[in-house]
Amino acid sequence: MGDRRQETGDRRTRGNFNYWLRSSRLLTFDSAPLLSPSPHLPDEKPMSHVVIIGCGIVGAAIAYELSQVKDLKITVIDKQPPAQASTGAALGVLMGAISHKIKGNAWRMRSSSIQRYETLIPELEAITNRKIPFNRQGILSLCLSEEKKADWQKLAEIRFSQNWKLEVWDAAKLKAVCPQVSNDKISYAVYSPQDRQLNPTALTLALVDAAQRNGVTFKFGVTVNKTPTSTNWCNELETTEGKITADWFVIAAGLGSSLLTAQLNQMIDIRPVLGQALQVSLGHPLGDRNFQPVITGDDVHIVPVDNGDYWIGATVEFPNDRDEIPPDEELLKKVLTQAIAFCPELAQATINHTWSGLRPRPEKRPAPIIGKLPGFDNILLATGHYRNGVLLAPATAYAIREMIIPNDS
Ligand SMILES: Cc1cc2nc3c(=O)[nH]c(=O)nc-3n(C[C@H](O)[C@H](O)[C@H](O)COP(=O)(O)OP(=O)(O)OC[C@H]3O[C@@H](n4cnc5c(N)ncnc54)[C@H](O)[C@@H]3O)c2cc1C
Repeated sequence: MGDRRQETGDRRTRGNFNYWLRSSRLLTFDSAPLLSPSPHLPDEKPMSHVVIIGCGIVGAAIAYELSQVKDLKITVIDKQPPAQASTGAALGVLMGAISHKIKGNAWRMRSSSIQRYETLIPELEAITNRKIPFNRQGILSLCLSEEKKADWQKLAEIRFSQNWKLEVWDAAKLKAVCPQVSNDKISYAVYSPQDRQLNPTALTLALVDAAQRNGVTFKFGVTVNKTPTSTNWCNELETTEGKITADWFVIAAGLGSSLLTAQLNQMIDIRPVLGQALQVSLGHPLGDRNFQPVITGDDVHIVPVDNGDYWIGATVEFPNDRDEIPPDEELLKKVLTQAIAFCPELAQATINHTWSGLRPRPEKRPAPIIGKLPGFDNILLATGHYRNGVLLAPATAYAIREMIIPNDS
């Protein structure tokens, strides 16, 4: 999948980020610049301290982004090691051009994140000497009825006008290019060559490593459990290791954000949605070994991860009346059956392991939630990314940076 060792260049995509941020509603947040002293901070304070709560993909991306700003002291706190919660279960599929978002913040965040990943992955690999599996062969979406073909063709035209590519393939082209796909019900496919997939755990660990090299302090095994504050300014948080004071707090705690914000009397309701997935081993790649895109259809992803190994997932399961989500084995079987229906050779694969995770989904509002916690000037939310936290982490990190250090360019 190509040579990943390229020169570092953390500022190469800034212009693009600034573009979407300038035209984004995020800019309307009334955030005081961190480097101007607030009435609560002594003028002589040498460095401003930012505490990030949560070290999934979102917290780690924010930590790395902020670690490139001079004169910031940054601490990341997590009750677990990095990439354990939702991030540890994610498939890392980055659905940008192939998503139906075409304008506004939703499209800007997707497109700028995908673009940032092109430089971020080689940059992190060069800094940390770690390998981050990054599939640059695009996403192929299988379509089961002609019904929506005109919509896809229209989307392909829109993407063309946005300088992105999206190709609508007929069944003959699909068969020629992806012979592993064999299902009479598939009438056409949509190929998105610029979309990507990556390993979320490897990426999070690399972000932590790179941020650490830039001076960020990580405290794992520490829980933030109480927030003794009632004003619009929070000076300190209580943790299992005592109090921690800071100028800014960023809540990137995924599902844990509900409890933290409830303790601040500003509950942001984030509910879990379970996803189950599995890894199968075929022993050899499906179809053309030199063309291994993510294949997706009917909300099932077939993700090539190694020579002949595939991740398949994921289920989408909501809590029952008692607010529990016991993993439904039948649903996972259904996902595997669907994957086999698309690529029959997968029937010969052996299941290596299965896993599940909880996606953080904001209740009755769109995902993600990025901005100030209502009622507080120095608590920022970067949470509720639901099904797209890996995709949106770079844009989220940049948005948080702009809220802390506005007009940084
Ligand atoms: C099966 C599955 C497949 C997925 N596939 C994709 C995909 O293909 N593409 C994509 O973009 N997204 C995908 N997602 C969604 C993605 O995983 C999430 O959106 C993303 O991981 C959210 O990241 P996060 O950092 O906000 O949260 P998390 O990864 O959940 O991290 C939150 C962290 O906060 C910590 N924390 C919580 N409360 C506290 C506290 N009080 N004190 C200290 N620490 C605390 C937790 O320990 C945790 O480490 C998938 C999710 C699942 C479950």
